[in-house]
Amino acid sequence: MKVTAVTPRGYCKGVVRAINIVKKATKEVKPPIYILGMIVHNEYIVNALKNMGAITIEDSQKTRLELLDEVDEGTIIITAHGAGDNVKAKAEAKHLAIIDASCPDVIKTHELIKKYLDEGKDILYIGKNHHPEAEGALAISDRVHLIQSIDDIEKIDPNGDYVMTNQTTMSLYDVYTICEKAKQCLPHVTIAKETCNATKIRQEAIASLDDDIDLVIIVGDPRSNNTKKLASIAKTQAHKPTQMIESINDLDLTWLNEAHHVAVSSGASTPTSLTNQIIRFIEQYDPDDVTTHQKPAIQYEDILR
Ligand code: SF4
Repeated sequence: MKVTAVTPRGYCKGVVRAINIVKKATKEVKPPIYILGMIVHNEYIVNALKNMGAITIEDSQKTRLELLDEVDEGTIIITAHGAGDNVKAKAEAKHLAIIDASCPDVIKTHELIKKYLDEGKDILYIGKNHHPEAEGALAISDRVHLIQSIDDIEKIDPNGDYVMTNQTTMSLYDVYTICEKAKQCLPHVTIAKETCNATKIRQEAIASLDDDIDLVIIVGDPRSNNTKKLASIAKTQAHKPTQMIESINDLDLTWLNEAHHVAVSSGASTPTSLTNQIIRFIEQYDPDDVTTHQKPAIQYEDILR
């Protein structure tokens, strides 16, 4: 079957960096080593790192600050999504060692927010409530206000002096729509878009898929914001039938029976081996030849490569 392996796709530099930091820590740091939340939003990576000795503390109902209550000794690793200074201060007060695997692009956004706060502006932060990256940005000051949709703009006092910025993994297209609405409603707003380059070029590649592609498969964890945004863009910008799956185990062969040309991409936190396995399988798949229908087993030893 014809397959387009969309490029770029998969691991971004921030994810590679975070995984390498954890792997290094498991070799050099005395246990226990705790990762505060999922290092990146991918269950396969979390399990592979656990096997190396780095324990992930995760509870979707708890903030990073609350998760720290579960750690009383050893080292904590801050994830690629970053964390507020309040998290670092609490860890220091508990005499925990801290390893910071925050993505440099997230740190850059925090610095931008602090600079504009110092200039007296309030921040309108486009992001997803309860996402760890948004949690870190909102912790900087109570003058950072979360904006999740254009409806939230209407609740903002139009007389204020604002800078509008965003979570790095938001959809370019959603951010554009919200910023345009802000420019209409708020006379004193400066726009400082912060979608990271890795997110931007992956989203642009999906938005400009070839016309004859009749199925898009996005590989990634359902908790990964950048993965969900890729799937959303494939539907709303490229107007393609789209399926989001975590691994080859979720691939429904009936989808392929209707398709002629399949595009495959993956979120920035998706292991390369999982995506490549799906690409290779679909390439050899023939609906009329049952010998091509047997799915291969996941190679767990390749997850961190
Ligand atoms: S998606 Fe962007 S911000 Fe997030 S880890 Fe990757 S490079 Fe960093």
